[in-house]
Amino acid sequence: MVFPREIIVGHKTLDQCSDLCSRISKGQNALVIVDKDTKKIAGNKIIKIMKKADYNVEEIIIKNATVPQVNKVINFATENHSEILLGVGGGSVIDVSKLASHELGASFVSIPTCASHDGIASPRASLKHRNGSVSKTASSPLAVLADTEIINKAPYRMLAAGCADVVSNISAVLDWKLAHRLKHDEFSSHAAVLAETAAQLIIDHSDEIKPEVEEAVWFAVKAMIVSGVAMSVAGNTRPASGSEHMFSHMLDHLGPGIMLKRKKGYHPLHGEQCGIGAIMITYLHGEDWELIRDTLQKIGAPTTSEEIGISKKKVVEALVRATEIRPERYTILGENGLTEDAAKALAKHTGVI
Ligand SMILES: [Zn+2]
Repeated sequence: MVFPREIIVGHKTLDQCSDLCSRISKGQNALVIVDKDTKKIAGNKIIKIMKKADYNVEEIIIKNATVPQVNKVINFATENHSEILLGVGGGSVIDVSKLASHELGASFVSIPTCASHDGIASPRASLKHRNGSVSKTASSPLAVLADTEIINKAPYRMLAAGCADVVSNISAVLDWKLAHRLKHDEFSSHAAVLAETAAQLIIDHSDEIKPEVEEAVWFAVKAMIVSGVAMSVAGNTRPASGSEHMFSHMLDHLGPGIMLKRKKGYHPLHGEQCGIGAIMITYLHGEDWELIRDTLQKIGAPTTSEEIGISKKKVVEALVRATEIRPERYTILGENGLTEDAAKALAKHTGVI
């Protein structure tokens, strides 16, 4: 089990990159993984800092989080004897870097340029394929270097979605506890408490999480790292992924055709979908779903199907079919999922549709 050994979160922290690398690895061959945007945002600067500290630095630009891109990085890193992989970017770059370093057994440093989901420090990565996305086992990063000044420049909507993803730990843990009681699923109270603590951090600071407040980035990133550690402790994603995530993955699976016409070109983010799912799933558990909804509203994350541009019909369909995503993962949705009437009543009662 890998835990991040070093976590640096703060203003203008990129400069600490080479020192950080020297503490976590003896290797001198570094590979900086970026996409064409994050290369300009932080990648070029990281390369400069690493070269100044006498590292042999190579760079690879990836397009998206897919199997061919992971293989491209693995092959390039093997040819160049890369010992330290620095993933500089958003979800896709971090996920590809995480999987490649896991495969190579190389040290991985996660350098997020935005914070749109809890993958910054988690041991899982999600890859895209034709019918949505698939979650893969990887290792947590050995270190996380988060420059709050850089993340603060990313669109605020991404940060709000990342916070919503962490808030959804509340319903994920409720599902996990239920599966433990009913199906004897392995349960770690330590992991559950960590996941809840991460969500609580966002709930407690929801008044301070708003656009252009650099401190908001600090709270969000800290909560995401705690969430990632919770998954490492559990050895799976249960502390941060329950039926609200199955609902979100089903929305992805249903495809872009589910979008309302007037919201064309708008892509709901993972965390936004999970946050909306968490409102409904927490209600099903008979817990304080209004607290989830109010927190999301305060931080400016969507709470209705209208806001994310998905039709009411598709929200109901995703609820009904959510259990198809991970049939082996027992949740409040049971083994066969909700009926259409129940799903409709749930979505209406919680104001999602
Ligand atoms: Zn998530």
